[in-house]
Amino acid sequence: MKIFNTLTQKKESIDLSKKTLKIYVCGPTVYSELHIGNMRPLILVDVLMRYFKHHKIQVTTVINITDIDDKIILSAKQKNVTEKHISEMHIKNYKDNQKMLNLLTPTHEPQVTNEINTILSYIDRLFDSKAAYKAGGNVYFSVKSFSKAYGQLSNQNLEKMDEALDNDKNKKYFADFVLWKNTDEGIKWDSKYGKGRPGWHTQCVAFIEKFLDGFADIHIGGVDLKFPHHENEIIQKYAYDQKPLANIWMHNGSLNIFGVKMSKSLGNILKIKDFLDKNDSNTLRYIFYKSSYEAPINLNSILLTEAKTKVKAWNSLFQKISKNFQIRDTILQESNEIDTEIEQAIQDDFNFPNILSEVEKKITKIQTLYKNFEKNSVELNESFSRITYCLKKILGFVFEDVQITIEEKSLYKNWCLKKSQMKYQEADEIRKILIEKSIL
Ligand SMILES: [Zn+2]
Repeated sequence: MKIFNTLTQKKESIDLSKKTLKIYVCGPTVYSELHIGNMRPLILVDVLMRYFKHHKIQVTTVINITDIDDKIILSAKQKNVTEKHISEMHIKNYKDNQKMLNLLTPTHEPQVTNEINTILSYIDRLFDSKAAYKAGGNVYFSVKSFSKAYGQLSNQNLEKMDEALDNDKNKKYFADFVLWKNTDEGIKWDSKYGKGRPGWHTQCVAFIEKFLDGFADIHIGGVDLKFPHHENEIIQKYAYDQKPLANIWMHNGSLNIFGVKMSKSLGNILKIKDFLDKNDSNTLRYIFYKSSYEAPINLNSILLTEAKTKVKAWNSLFQKISKNFQIRDTILQESNEIDTEIEQAIQDDFNFPNILSEVEKKITKIQTLYKNFEKNSVELNESFSRITYCLKKILGFVFEDVQITIEEKSLYKNWCLKKSQMKYQEADEIRKILIEKSIL
């Protein structure tokens, strides 16, 4: 299959006969409840994990949790509680969100505060490689010493960048970044560089080193992290052992609401919990799959209504079909196959709009087959089991399994009997009830 690599700007092959795959995702900073935009890389990696698992590949996925940073410290100070109190509360929310959205659990979810020594050992090695220096009590990474590994992902040219943008006077060079921060504010850890806490950019490379042996087959993150965060990841790894950090870089687009980027200052943040109070997880997945993963999504009422209506219609069709098989004592097939056209769209860089449109075509065909249930029951059983396998197991939708009751079954049999006895008025009365119960 092919995946677009942001680093080379080309679609590159992933061998699906591989036995193992390593994926890294830049995860959330837990200073407040997560919003639906935060879920884009997480739903993307969820589909990747599901699809590779379908191909019997053993996937190791690491999603980090930044549980200490300026925003967490500020929030703790404002609320007069510890940083741990803030981060633990939001980690709990995050885990609830993962469950509510039917996300597969990653292999590792390292938290910065549990991995301070991992990060410090990485910084030690950067010091040994002369990539780090101390200034003003902080430890910085020296971008100039390794600048040939800088800018390839985001197409940034150091010479053309505006140095005035940075106001940290301790740095030797404007693009340098903090590895270890000596701070008066918030929680601090002891280290040979003095009391302090890690800067943001080292955790991901340190975790890739520890959990993925220093290399990710696929590295995922939002497009807003390309610069400087991902450039800083790449240059640190280069200084560490002159090796690449990842094979394929995938960047997901942002999510805008009514054309405006979500931001706290604009007050247009849509928290996951608030979204799920009014909508289900299928609706959010549908919204995400309507656009290519790399494109921005503009969430508006038209898209929301479409998503809600569609997933509701799918659910009701699937319930009817399932009930009809059960009522006729026909066992529903179990499939572990994906329709060819859908799989082709998946293999073309997880082309979500094409995947959805192929899904639509299959469902339209299933609707037609359903209209003549008796005649098409074998083909319907096959198509139905394939589409539900794909929607549930690969795309992560949730459709309840319905069980027909004994009463419903005898009602149906009674309806058939009345028809055969040509007692049409009685049959019609029963038919009405069967329609109400979504059996007909
Ligand atoms: Zn990262």
